Amino acid sequence: MFYGTTGMLFLPSILSACKKTTLQNENNFTGEVIIIGAGISGLYAAKILNEFGIKSTILEASDRVGGRIKTLSGFADFDIELGADEIIGENSMWHDMVIAGGASFVSQAGSPLYYFNGSIKNEIEASQNTFFNTMNNIIASIGDYAGSDVTAEVFANLSGVSDNVFHIFNAKVANTVGSCDERMGMFGLRTVEERRTSGTTKKFIKNKGLKSILDQQFSKEIGNVILNSRIQSIDYSGAKVTVTDEVGNVYSADKVIITVPIGVLQNNDITFTPELPVSHSYAIQQIGFDQGMKIIVQFDERVWPTNTGVIYGSGLIPEFRTTAALERSTEDRWLTAIVNGANAETLSAQGDGLIDVVLGEIDQVLGEVSMHYVDHVIQNWGSDPLFRGVMSYSKPGTGNSRTTLTQPINNKIYFAGEAVHDGGHHGTVHGAMESALRSVINMIS
Ligand SMILES: Cc1cc2nc3c(=O)[nH]c(=O)nc-3n(C[C@H](O)[C@H](O)[C@H](O)COP(=O)(O)OP(=O)(O)OC[C@H]3O[C@@H](n4cnc5c(N)ncnc54)[C@H](O)[C@@H]3O)c2cc1C
Repeated sequence: MFYGTTGMLFLPSILSACKKTTLQNENNFTGEVIIIGAGISGLYAAKILNEFGIKSTILEASDRVGGRIKTLSGFADFDIELGADEIIGENSMWHDMVIAGGASFVSQAGSPLYYFNGSIKNEIEASQNTFFNTMNNIIASIGDYAGSDVTAEVFANLSGVSDNVFHIFNAKVANTVGSCDERMGMFGLRTVEERRTSGTTKKFIKNKGLKSILDQQFSKEIGNVILNSRIQSIDYSGAKVTVTDEVGNVYSADKVIITVPIGVLQNNDITFTPELPVSHSYAIQQIGFDQGMKIIVQFDERVWPTNTGVIYGSGLIPEFRTTAALERSTEDRWLTAIVNGANAETLSAQGDGLIDVVLGEIDQVLGEVSMHYVDHVIQNWGSDPLFRGVMSYSKPGTGNSRTTLTQPINNKIYFAGEAVHDGGHHGTVHGAMESALRSVINMIS
């Protein structure tokens, strides 16, 4: 990917960052950099800085790297992704890395099942329903939306999505991008369509977990991460920037790249001296960031029809995803519930009763199958103080907040991470990488 000469590199163009074009950049900066957060954007920023010969240190609050890339090994006969899973688009740096990491992709995703009007239906059965077809047509029109920035719920109501399939609309639209219809903005949804510039494919890896790709592609950067260092304050009032973690360790550098999830910034978990400009603190609050979780349920046998891919429920959980249909498992007895937005908040509030709610909804959709339940794993991104949510989305009023955050402060503070991508690729791995690239280009230009 990189073609270097001393102090000068050819980087993928951020103007068309998904495409494999290049941009010549000359380095005008020779100082040191601190990167806060060892998710994909922090790791990638360190990698690019290293290519320029710029020294960086990554400070990570948790005891692991990867952030919202988190692979669960040992619970099933394949590696389960608790965070990012699909490789969205084939024209991206992330896609290239995954290929370079030896990944092979599943060839088909299995057939969907839909629960509505009191029964489960396959695609053919569902497509005999007028309301279902109308809903699909309305979803297909979102890329051409020309109205005002109302919520997806308002849009669906005005467009004529019928009550009996409203939950499927939510599952296919807002839930897939980390929120729910009553909060997701239509401008944001339309912007998501811009992701198509990175290609229209969505691929699942079948032979390895994403963590192993990170370990392989970022081995040098991972070796330089300081773990268990939760940053609480950043002082950029002097010539150098000093950052302090929760046990009082102080680090200093010329510039800092902040890659923590936007929810961490919204909650003011990190204080700034001087305070952030109003433009930036306002922009941080305008970006949508909801609770979300994945619940992996293990059964003693497959309790759904063979070759099933996604199952759309009608309760709190909009989507269940099977595994063997994705060619990952030989046993096909693990089901992943994916729930974001208001439903995730309701589910999270169930406490120990959460799994009973999940099993009850599985029973409703698939019949009395919960007697085959064995075990489960809950990954609740919203309740984790190092994330405070699942992935950013644009609510009505988000406007150009992401663009504001791409602007450095005093040539010392740079924001990166998925929420800072302002070209429609927020909420993705490749978007997070592109935001890191952009912050480095801003830094060295
Ligand atoms: C459930 C789920 C499903 C997803 N599915 C997909 C998908 O299929 N395809 C796709 O492309 N993307 C998907 N995404 C989105 C993708 O995972 C993210 O966009 C991307 O991983 C974000 O990377 P990041 O570096 O911006 O942030 P993160 O990965 O969140 O990294 C930020 C890091 O900052 C650390 N941190 C927090 N606070 C502090 C602090 N005070 N001090 C120091 N460190 C701190 C965190 O511990 C974390 O390691 C999904 C995300 C989730 C949660």
